[in-house]
Amino acid sequence: MKKVLVLEDETNIRSFVVINLKRAGYETIEAGTGAEALEQLKRNPDIRVALLDIMLPDEMDGFEVCRRIRASNSKIGIIMLTARTQEMDKVTGLMTGADDYVTKPFSPAELTARVDAICRRMGDDAAPAEEGIINNPPFLLNTRNRTLEKNGQRVKLTQVEYAIIKLFMDNPGKALSREQILSSVWGEKYYGELKIVDVNIRRLRLKIEDDPQTPAYITTVWGYGYKWGF
Ligand code: CA
Repeated sequence: MKKVLVLEDETNIRSFVVINLKRAGYETIEAGTGAEALEQLKRNPDIRVALLDIMLPDEMDGFEVCRRIRASNSKIGIIMLTARTQEMDKVTGLMTGADDYVTKPFSPAELTARVDAICRRMGDDAAPAEEGIINNPPFLLNTRNRTLEKNGQRVKLTQVEYAIIKLFMDNPGKALSREQILSSVWGEKYYGELKIVDVNIRRLRLKIEDDPQTPAYITTVWGYGYKWGF
Protein backbone atom coordinates (compact mmCIF):
# COMPACT_ATOMS: atom_id res chain seq x y z
CA MET A 1 0.00 0.00 0.00
CA LYS A 2 1.33 3.44 -0.87
CA LYS A 3 2.16 5.59 2.12
CA VAL A 4 1.09 9.22 2.28
CA LEU A 5 2.29 11.65 4.93
CA VAL A 6 -0.36 14.14 6.05
CA LEU A 7 1.03 17.22 7.79
CA GLU A 8 -1.83 19.35 9.09
CA ASP A 9 -2.19 20.94 12.52
CA GLU A 10 -5.98 21.22 12.45
CA THR A 11 -7.15 17.81 13.58
CA ASN A 12 -10.57 17.97 11.92
CA ILE A 13 -9.05 18.75 8.51
CA ARG A 14 -6.38 16.12 9.06
CA SER A 15 -8.97 13.43 9.85
CA PHE A 16 -11.00 14.46 6.81
CA VAL A 17 -7.93 14.04 4.61
CA VAL A 18 -6.88 10.78 6.25
CA ILE A 19 -10.34 9.20 6.00
CA ASN A 20 -10.57 10.02 2.33
CA LEU A 21 -7.08 8.82 1.49
CA LYS A 22 -7.70 5.55 3.33
CA ARG A 23 -10.94 5.13 1.43
CA ALA A 24 -8.95 5.58 -1.79
CA GLY A 25 -6.57 2.82 -0.74
CA TYR A 26 -3.64 4.72 0.74
CA GLU A 27 -1.87 4.13 4.02
CA THR A 28 -1.55 7.37 5.95
CA ILE A 29 1.04 8.69 8.40
CA GLU A 30 -0.05 11.75 10.38
CA ALA A 31 1.89 14.72 11.68
CA GLY A 32 0.75 17.92 13.42
CA THR A 33 4.00 19.88 13.27
CA GLY A 34 6.89 20.26 10.84
CA ALA A 35 9.28 18.57 13.24
CA GLU A 36 6.93 15.58 13.55
CA ALA A 37 6.63 15.38 9.78
CA LEU A 38 10.40 15.28 9.29
CA GLU A 39 10.69 12.66 12.05
CA GLN A 40 8.02 10.48 10.41
CA LEU A 41 9.79 10.73 7.06
CA LYS A 42 13.00 9.53 8.66
CA ARG A 43 11.13 6.63 10.24
CA ASN A 44 9.20 5.79 7.05
CA PRO A 45 11.56 6.14 4.08
CA ASP A 46 8.93 4.45 1.89
CA ILE A 47 6.51 7.40 2.06
CA ARG A 48 5.67 8.23 -1.55
CA VAL A 49 3.72 11.45 -1.23
CA ALA A 50 3.68 14.21 1.41
CA LEU A 51 0.73 16.57 1.86
CA LEU A 52 2.02 19.68 3.61
CA ASP A 53 -0.17 22.32 5.18
CA ILE A 54 1.48 25.75 4.88
CA MET A 55 0.17 27.53 7.98
CA LEU A 56 1.48 25.73 11.05
CA PRO A 57 1.62 26.94 14.65
CA ASP A 58 5.33 26.49 15.29
CA GLU A 59 8.12 28.38 13.59
CA MET A 60 8.58 25.83 10.82
CA ASP A 61 5.89 26.40 8.18
CA GLY A 62 5.00 24.11 5.30
CA PHE A 63 7.39 25.86 2.91
CA GLU A 64 10.29 25.23 5.25
CA VAL A 65 9.30 21.59 5.68
CA CYS A 66 9.13 21.27 1.90
CA ARG A 67 12.57 22.82 1.51
CA ARG A 68 14.07 20.46 4.07
CA ILE A 69 12.49 17.38 2.51
CA ARG A 70 13.74 18.37 -0.93
CA ALA A 71 17.26 18.98 0.36
CA SER A 72 17.64 15.24 0.85
CA ASN A 73 14.87 13.61 -1.19
CA SER A 74 14.06 14.42 -4.79
CA LYS A 75 11.89 11.33 -5.33
CA ILE A 76 8.99 11.96 -2.97
CA GLY A 77 5.89 13.71 -4.36
CA ILE A 78 4.93 16.88 -2.47
CA ILE A 79 1.52 18.56 -2.50
CA MET A 80 1.02 21.81 -0.56
CA LEU A 81 -2.31 22.37 1.18
CA THR A 82 -2.98 26.07 1.07
CA ALA A 83 -5.79 27.94 2.77
CA ARG A 84 -4.98 31.10 0.94
CA THR A 85 -5.52 31.70 -2.72
CA GLN A 86 -2.81 34.26 -3.34
CA GLU A 87 -0.76 33.46 -6.40
CA MET A 88 2.36 34.11 -4.37
CA ASP A 89 1.76 31.14 -2.08
CA LYS A 90 1.45 28.76 -4.96
CA VAL A 91 4.57 30.08 -6.64
CA THR A 92 6.55 30.06 -3.39
CA GLY A 93 5.46 26.48 -2.74
CA LEU A 94 6.46 25.31 -6.17
CA MET A 95 9.77 27.15 -6.02
CA THR A 96 10.62 25.45 -2.73
CA GLY A 97 10.20 22.13 -4.49
CA ALA A 98 6.54 21.15 -4.26
CA ASP A 99 5.01 19.29 -7.20
CA ASP A 100 1.48 20.53 -6.78
CA TYR A 101 -0.87 22.40 -4.48
CA VAL A 102 -4.50 22.06 -3.41
CA THR A 103 -6.46 25.07 -2.19
CA LYS A 104 -8.74 24.63 0.84
CA PRO A 105 -11.56 23.88 0.94
CA PHE A 106 -11.05 20.94 -1.40
CA SER A 107 -13.28 18.01 -2.17
CA PRO A 108 -12.22 14.43 -1.40
CA ALA A 109 -12.35 13.67 -5.13
CA GLU A 110 -10.02 16.54 -5.95
CA LEU A 111 -7.54 15.57 -3.26
CA THR A 112 -7.34 11.90 -4.18
CA ALA A 113 -7.17 12.80 -7.88
CA ARG A 114 -4.06 14.88 -7.16
CA VAL A 115 -2.43 12.15 -5.08
CA ASP A 116 -3.30 9.53 -7.73
CA ALA A 117 -1.81 11.78 -10.43
CA ILE A 118 1.46 12.16 -8.56
CA CYS A 119 1.72 8.41 -7.97
CA ARG A 120 1.02 7.77 -11.63
CA ARG A 121 3.77 10.17 -12.64
CA MET A 122 6.17 8.43 -10.32
CA GLY A 123 5.70 5.31 -12.39
CA ASP A 124 3.73 3.33 -9.82
CA ASP A 125 1.46 1.90 -12.46
CA ALA A 126 1.94 -1.68 -13.51
CA ALA A 127 3.02 -0.57 -16.99
CA PRO A 128 6.45 -2.01 -17.80
CA ALA A 129 9.24 0.48 -17.30
CA GLU A 130 10.65 1.86 -20.51
CA GLU A 131 14.31 1.17 -20.70
CA GLY A 132 16.90 3.27 -22.28
CA ILE A 133 19.02 6.32 -22.57
CA ILE A 134 18.19 9.52 -24.40
CA ASN A 135 21.47 11.14 -25.32
CA ASN A 136 21.11 14.81 -26.10
CA PRO A 137 24.50 16.43 -25.39
CA PRO A 138 25.33 17.83 -22.94
CA PHE A 139 22.39 15.90 -21.45
CA LEU A 140 21.93 12.22 -20.84
CA LEU A 141 18.50 11.06 -19.68
CA ASN A 142 18.27 7.60 -18.22
CA THR A 143 14.62 6.54 -18.52
CA ARG A 144 15.11 3.42 -16.44
CA ASN A 145 16.54 5.18 -13.39
CA ARG A 146 14.69 8.39 -14.22
CA THR A 147 17.86 10.39 -13.83
CA LEU A 148 19.42 13.27 -15.75
CA GLU A 149 23.09 14.07 -16.23
CA LYS A 150 24.56 17.23 -17.66
CA ASN A 151 28.20 16.92 -18.72
CA GLY A 152 28.39 13.74 -16.68
CA GLN A 153 27.09 15.43 -13.52
CA ARG A 154 23.83 14.28 -11.98
CA VAL A 155 21.11 16.96 -11.92
CA LYS A 156 18.68 16.36 -9.04
CA LEU A 157 15.15 16.52 -10.41
CA THR A 158 11.72 16.17 -8.88
CA GLN A 159 9.38 13.68 -10.55
CA VAL A 160 7.54 16.52 -12.27
CA GLU A 161 10.76 18.03 -13.56
CA TYR A 162 11.83 14.64 -14.85
CA ALA A 163 8.51 14.22 -16.67
CA ILE A 164 8.88 17.64 -18.30
CA ILE A 165 12.45 17.00 -19.44
CA LYS A 166 11.44 13.61 -20.81
CA LEU A 167 8.59 15.22 -22.77
CA PHE A 168 10.99 17.80 -24.23
CA MET A 169 13.63 15.22 -25.12
CA ASP A 170 11.01 13.05 -26.80
CA ASN A 171 10.04 16.07 -28.91
CA PRO A 172 13.27 17.92 -29.73
CA GLY A 173 12.81 21.22 -31.55
CA LYS A 174 9.04 20.97 -31.40
CA ALA A 175 7.02 23.82 -29.90
CA LEU A 176 4.84 22.42 -27.12
CA SER A 177 1.90 24.44 -25.88
CA ARG A 178 1.48 24.95 -22.15
CA GLU A 179 -1.78 23.00 -22.40
CA GLN A 180 0.04 20.07 -24.01
CA ILE A 181 2.69 20.10 -21.31
CA LEU A 182 0.05 20.29 -18.59
CA SER A 183 -2.01 17.39 -19.88
CA SER A 184 1.02 15.27 -20.64
CA VAL A 185 2.77 15.79 -17.30
CA TRP A 186 -0.08 16.40 -14.89
CA GLY A 187 -2.70 14.27 -16.63
CA GLU A 188 -5.80 14.95 -18.68
CA LYS A 189 -8.01 15.36 -15.66
CA TYR A 190 -5.82 17.91 -13.90
CA TYR A 191 -7.84 20.64 -12.20
CA GLY A 192 -5.08 23.19 -11.76
CA GLU A 193 -3.92 26.22 -13.65
CA LEU A 194 -1.50 26.65 -16.54
CA LYS A 195 0.73 28.74 -14.29
CA ILE A 196 2.06 25.57 -12.71
CA VAL A 197 3.76 24.81 -16.03
CA ASP A 198 5.59 28.15 -16.07
CA VAL A 199 6.73 27.85 -12.48
CA ASN A 200 8.10 24.37 -13.03
CA ILE A 201 9.89 25.49 -16.19
CA ARG A 202 11.41 28.38 -14.26
CA ARG A 203 12.67 26.00 -11.58
CA LEU A 204 13.96 23.55 -14.16
CA ARG A 205 15.88 26.29 -15.95
CA LEU A 206 17.66 27.16 -12.72
CA LYS A 207 18.85 23.58 -12.59
CA ILE A 208 19.85 22.89 -16.17
CA GLU A 209 20.61 26.13 -17.99
CA ASP A 210 24.12 27.62 -18.10
CA ASP A 211 22.45 31.02 -17.73
CA PRO A 212 18.81 30.73 -16.59
CA GLN A 213 18.21 34.36 -17.66
CA THR A 214 18.96 33.51 -21.29
CA PRO A 215 17.85 29.90 -21.60
CA ALA A 216 19.42 27.91 -24.40
CA TYR A 217 17.85 24.49 -23.77
CA ILE A 218 14.26 25.23 -22.76
CA THR A 219 13.34 28.16 -24.96
CA THR A 220 10.15 30.19 -24.79
CA VAL A 221 7.74 30.20 -27.70
CA TRP A 222 6.03 33.51 -27.04
CA GLY A 223 2.28 33.35 -26.56
CA TYR A 224 2.31 29.58 -26.95
CA GLY A 225 4.61 27.53 -24.79
CA TYR A 226 8.09 26.08 -24.78
CA LYS A 227 10.52 24.22 -26.96
CA TRP A 228 13.58 22.03 -26.39
CA GLY A 229 16.44 23.82 -28.14
CA PHE A 230 16.14 26.46 -30.84
CA1 CA B 1 -2.88 24.97 9.44
